[in-house]
Amino acid sequence: MDKLTRYSDEFIDELKENVDIVDLVSDYLELKKTGNRYKGLCPFHSEKTPSFFVNPDNNFYHCFGCGAGGDSINFIMEIENLTFVESIKMLAERSGMELPDMSTQQRQVYKEREELFALNKLAARFYNYLLTDTNMGKEALEYLNDRGFDENDIKRFSLGYAADEWQLLLNFLKKKGFSIHLIKKAGLISEGNNNSYYDKFRNRVMFPIFNNRGEVIAFGGRILNSEDGYGPKYLNSPETPIFSKKKNLYGLHLAKEKIRKENSCIIMEGYTDIIQAHKKGFKNSIASLGTAFTEDQAKLIKRYAENAYIAYDADTAGNKATLRGLDILNDTGINVKVIELEEGNDPDQLLKNEGSALFNELIEKAVSLIDFKINMIVKDKNLSEPGIRKKVLRSMVELLSEVEDNLEREIYIERAAAKTNFKADVLAEEVEKGFKKNKKRNYKRNREKQNKQKEKTFDLYSQLSYYQKIEEEILAHFISNPSLREKLSGKISKNDFNGRTAQLAEYLFKGSVISNSVHLDKIKEDLEDELLSYWSEILVKQDNSLDKNRILDLADYLSSKRIFKNKEKLCRLISKKELSLDKLNRILLTFYSLNYNIERRD
Ligand SMILES: [Zn+2]
Repeated sequence: MDKLTRYSDEFIDELKENVDIVDLVSDYLELKKTGNRYKGLCPFHSEKTPSFFVNPDNNFYHCFGCGAGGDSINFIMEIENLTFVESIKMLAERSGMELPDMSTQQRQVYKEREELFALNKLAARFYNYLLTDTNMGKEALEYLNDRGFDENDIKRFSLGYAADEWQLLLNFLKKKGFSIHLIKKAGLISEGNNNSYYDKFRNRVMFPIFNNRGEVIAFGGRILNSEDGYGPKYLNSPETPIFSKKKNLYGLHLAKEKIRKENSCIIMEGYTDIIQAHKKGFKNSIASLGTAFTEDQAKLIKRYAENAYIAYDADTAGNKATLRGLDILNDTGINVKVIELEEGNDPDQLLKNEGSALFNELIEKAVSLIDFKINMIVKDKNLSEPGIRKKVLRSMVELLSEVEDNLEREIYIERAAAKTNFKADVLAEEVEKGFKKNKKRNYKRNREKQNKQKEKTFDLYSQLSYYQKIEEEILAHFISNPSLREKLSGKISKNDFNGRTAQLAEYLFKGSVISNSVHLDKIKEDLEDELLSYWSEILVKQDNSLDKNRILDLADYLSSKRIFKNKEKLCRLISKKELSLDKLNRILLTFYSLNYNIERRD
């Protein structure tokens, strides 16, 4: 993020006023009212009990589980993966506000992203034109037709063709006014010798990759001709300012509504799997861009659905990287089921050759992640061979002793026994041993985690001392109520605060903050992450039933507490009579001024 603030504080204040944060957050997760606040399951980390709170009175959210927090702008930045300016734009549109002019600098950053979107859109159109309307694209079109894709499919997914030429796209984009710098930034050209550039994608069927808002952010290209010199079978755009492979899913822009409606998605491997699936009516299908799932992708899915069916081909599904990805999906709180496909079969071929009825059957028969792993362990193993038998037993014990639920564990032990001809009670005995060992290992860790969660979730104030609570209230009101700032800073100073609140107070009582609107994007550069998180924490906890005068009273109370404490200390020193005249003088002066302070307050 660039440092310059792009919009006036007044505009941002007005925008935040106009956006109902409860409404906004409710677009992404279910909120339940609790007292004056709302709570729900955090969209930024995986959890089973809600620790995500929204305080509608001051428009703040905070998660007591992962520490995420901020105002409505931060929420949109985080959840939509947008820049500050883009979030402002989205919120302004949402609340029907017109955007004021931006500064030159801010315009540039924003402009570049907009230009990258425009450039990608145009490139996609160009590729599509080459495919559908030129002789150059004939072979690619035939290839797609052979695979069963028609005009509608090509249109739906904006498919295209990158010609077998070195600078066709480059020259086209240049003619349209895009700079080489920008085309390179979009990842569409590569640098050759002597500062020359050439098209990165050549002689490939092109699959534009969209973000979930339906903008083209990157491309995948499948080679048409497997001769040497054309590179790998599949080539993807590199990471760019608008594309991160780890954070996007292919087909999501078309599938998201259906996914939300059915509360489930089907995850496949390749572009053509998705196109075929949508064609055959499985419109909740999406593909990970790469086989191993990332946490970001898992969270992205979790926003729309709780169930995921995995339809990878048999070889991919069984490999270690894939399995780890499926564990990540599972750990995010998504109920994962695996559709078991025959070796060498992928959803594309299966749907094309056998139709949707068989695929529906396979979905019905999809197995749980553990069942799938059991099947993987015994697959192709000659169990009559003692050495192999022993290895299989060991893997099985390792897998099953991770199952935490007792009943579930028992069920899986029986299934595994039936599949392997191990005696169930022998297997059970080994698994229980492993389970106990795991339990011991996990016990401390889990207990600590649970305790933390409990305290954080169920009683916002349970751990706070009385004074700390007062300190937090004062700071929260200081931040969210500008009219109180001057009065408060006349009454108290950073020395009246302790620990973390003192760190925040020190920052807040600087003149610059007092006179300005406090916006998180500004303070982000000044404060460490932990303090930033504390910032949203106290704002979510803020008690808005306290009126102005009550807050000012609390401030008086806080500062007199310090004065009295110091007074006691001075009295003790004087009574010891071990002071030099000089020191005594100084102390008396301090004593006097403290007394004066107290009298002035009365
Ligand atoms: Zn969280």
